[in-house]
Amino acid sequence: MYGYDLLVVGSANADLVIGVERRPDPGETVLGSDLAVHPGGKGANQAVAAARLGARTALLARVGDDAHGRLLLDSLRGAGVDTVGVLVGGAPTGVALITVDSGGDNAIVVSPGANGLLTPADARAATSLFHASRVVSAQLEIPLETVVDVVRALPPETRFVLNASPPRALPAEVLAACDPLIVNEHEARVLLGGSRVGEDPADWARILLAKGPRAVVVTLGARGALVASRDGVAHVPALDVTPVDTTGAGDAFTAALAWRLSRGEPLVEAAAYAARVGAATVTRRGAQASFPTARDVAAARS
Ligand code: ATP
Repeated sequence: MYGYDLLVVGSANADLVIGVERRPDPGETVLGSDLAVHPGGKGANQAVAAARLGARTALLARVGDDAHGRLLLDSLRGAGVDTVGVLVGGAPTGVALITVDSGGDNAIVVSPGANGLLTPADARAATSLFHASRVVSAQLEIPLETVVDVVRALPPETRFVLNASPPRALPAEVLAACDPLIVNEHEARVLLGGSRVGEDPADWARILLAKGPRAVVVTLGARGALVASRDGVAHVPALDVTPVDTTGAGDAFTAALAWRLSRGEPLVEAAAYAARVGAATVTRRGAQASFPTARDVAAARS
């Protein structure tokens, strides 16, 4: 009996955001807006996005014993995420220092803090969560060794989804477990390294698939997504919306895809639903604040 549709293993950060007219040069100080503090980090975002859609969701993560950690726990619980797997202490909560200039461009410095202490031992200690979950998803804002141990701890019937963000070279053992591997265009290019792959994302998807994953999804922003599997490459179109803030679109897409897979939906259909969720997310400001409910998604469909 599964207690969870989805177990997310990943990061939890406090996003500290200041608006500036322009970013300071080295050695310079500029005045900015009031500080805004938002719950973030790819793991926490994906867990909140899935729970908001109605998925029974748990998160395996680590936060500090501090105000930012409490902010994250509150936002997770408020969205209905089970935080039994959120470990507390050892280092300050991870922080992303974000400046957004008047042109809307941002510059971000991340201090991983407690995320860096989510260890392979933590993953091994959470086997009951793995056994209780239909799908386990991870990203790469936690130590790679921990992701390797997550893959090793997976029960045979549990599906593994990896959002390779931020991108880095992956061991064959991790690639082979991905069903699917999810990347955006930038991440695809990094994973393909210096290989001469041309400009066609369908070729990137095919080449990534040949590296071992059972399936690959390449998200293409306003152009939708590509799904590559043994059946070939399928294009999933994007909904035609007017974006106001694309922050969190990738997290919402991954969460929605993982949730629909947990219900036994075929990959291309799950990706089509995830594209609707991504589209709904870009029509609202913020990351977690912009994630839709299933009802919002149904409304966006018509
Ligand atoms: P981010 O880093 O901004 O969170 P990402 O680069 O990881 O996002 P995207 O490819 O930008 O991921 O977006 C994920 C999915 O969301 C896309 O595959 C698409 O389905 C949907 N989406 C994103 N931007 C738009 C848009 N402008 N219009 C419609 N759908 C969009």
